[in-house]
Amino acid sequence: CGIVGYIGQNDTKEILLKGLEKLEYRGYDSAGIAIMNENGVHVFKEKGRIAVLRETVDFNVESSVGIGHTRWATHGVPSQVNAHPHQSESERFTLVHNGVIENYSKLKREYLKDMELKSETDTEVVVQIIEKFVNEGKEVEEAFRHTLGLLKGSYAIALLDKQNTEKIYVAKNKSPLLVGLGDNFNVVASDAMAMLQVTDQYVELMDKEIVLVTKDSVTIKTLSGDIVERGSYTAELDA
Ligand code: GLU
Repeated sequence: CGIVGYIGQNDTKEILLKGLEKLEYRGYDSAGIAIMNENGVHVFKEKGRIAVLRETVDFNVESSVGIGHTRWATHGVPSQVNAHPHQSESERFTLVHNGVIENYSKLKREYLKDMELKSETDTEVVVQIIEKFVNEGKEVEEAFRHTLGLLKGSYAIALLDKQNTEKIYVAKNKSPLLVGLGDNFNVVASDAMAMLQVTDQYVELMDKEIVLVTKDSVTIKTLSGDIVERGSYTAELDA
C-alpha cells in the first residue's frame, strides 16, 4: 500500500499513476487517484491493478494538483466503493489513508451518529469528521489537526479541499510518508522511489506532524500548530 501526491505546474495524472506503479511492490488490492482543478475534484478508483485504474482515468481532465493511493484492505472488502480516495458528504474534502484507525467505530458513534457512511472503511470517518468540524466553524487546518488528535492507530494521510486548489494537507503517525521538494512543485510519497521520477530532495516527517504543501512551500507543524524546521536530504536510490 502507498500514497503519492503532487502539486505544481505540470499535469498530475501521469506523475501520480507512475508513482503508484513504483509502489506496486508494497502490495495492494485496489488503487485510486483524485485530481483537482478550479472546476472541482475528480476521483478515479478501481479494484485491482493500476493498469485497470489507468484505463478508467479521463485524460482530458487537466490538473496540477492531486493525490493517489494503493490500498491493502484492513476494514471492508477490496472493492471500488472501499477503494481510496474517500470523500466527505458534501464532497468538499477528499482523502487517502494508509494504516488502521483503531477507534473508528467509537469516533463514528461519537461524532457521526446519524450519518450513513458510503464505504465500510475505517478511513471514511476521518474525512467525514474533518468536514463536520469545518461545518461547525473551524478553519480547515485546525479541523485537520483536531481530527488527527482524536485518532488512535496508524496513518499516512493526504487531504484535498475543493475550495483551495493551492494546498495538500498531509499527516503521518506510525506509517511512512515523505515530502519531496521540487522547483515550483512539491510532492508527497510513502517511499522516495515513487517520486524519484521528479525529485531526489526529500524531507523526513515525524509522527504526529502535519504538513501544508503548496507548489512553492512546505510547512511542517505539530498537532498543536507549532512550526517545525527541518532540512532536506538527497535520496540516493536507483529510479
Ligand atoms: N485501513 C484502510 C482501509 O482498509 C487503509 C488500508 C491501507 O493501508 O491501504 O481502507
